[in-house]
Amino acid sequence: MFKSKKLFTFMFLVILSVFALAACGGEEESKEENKEETGSSEGGSTLETIKANDKIVWGVKNDTKLFGLKNPSNGEIEGFDVDMAKAITEIILGDASKVEFKEVTSKTRIPMLNNGDIDAIIATMTITEERKQEVDFSDVYFEAGQALLVKKGSPIQSIEDITADTKVLAVKGSTSAINIREKAPEAQVLEFENYAEAFTALKAGQGDTLTTDNAILFGMASEDSNFEVVGDTFTDEPYGIAAKKGSDDFVQAINDALAELKENGKYDELYNKWLNF
Ligand code: GLU
Repeated sequence: MFKSKKLFTFMFLVILSVFALAACGGEEESKEENKEETGSSEGGSTLETIKANDKIVWGVKNDTKLFGLKNPSNGEIEGFDVDMAKAITEIILGDASKVEFKEVTSKTRIPMLNNGDIDAIIATMTITEERKQEVDFSDVYFEAGQALLVKKGSPIQSIEDITADTKVLAVKGSTSAINIREKAPEAQVLEFENYAEAFTALKAGQGDTLTTDNAILFGMASEDSNFEVVGDTFTDEPYGIAAKKGSDDFVQAINDALAELKENGKYDELYNKWLNF
């Protein structure tokens, strides 16, 4: 009697755990199904999703004067990229205020786009063949070129003056960090998380020169008159707006908006407001 009661309890427990396992499996399965569903709706039309959300989440720089800089007095992010994002949003969604801005750095912008944290990147981003493997780009909306920023009176006046003793400051994830190693292979390159940190390091004397796009460097030089941009540009950096791979309709809408802004004078107005150096 005792024995069979034990057996009964054992059998009961076995049956219970079989049911419990089956239930767990079911839950996992339905989670997977859910995941696929969100995936497939994302994989549909990006433009439709954006229109349904009624806003565009833009990845912008927060520390790059002239393009995307957070104004500490009012918390607003200001610059050419930011104004372009608003103007494009106005054309696509009918209202410039239907924007949300999230901070990106050169290193985080592609992962944030591909994670779904942002819908598009407008953040001093050069169109390159390597990046085209990971994201889709709009037409070019600005032409920059890589240059050098130095303290006034520096012996470095162009890329030719860089030697094995030169410490060059650059930012992680930027084309500048790659290009400088090609153009001045003997240089010591120190990489920072963002442009605010790199410029602070230059001011603190941790390097001899900071390298990135001339337009970004002009913004820094305008903040501190002890520094100047030297030499000719030594690369071409055509800026594009990036969207997740496969969002053809969204990229088309961005390109149509860019064409309209060039046509109606708004592009020139914003260019002159920010980039008339
Ligand atoms: N335009 C260059 C790039 O896309 C340098 C500026 C930046 O780091 O955003 O990498």
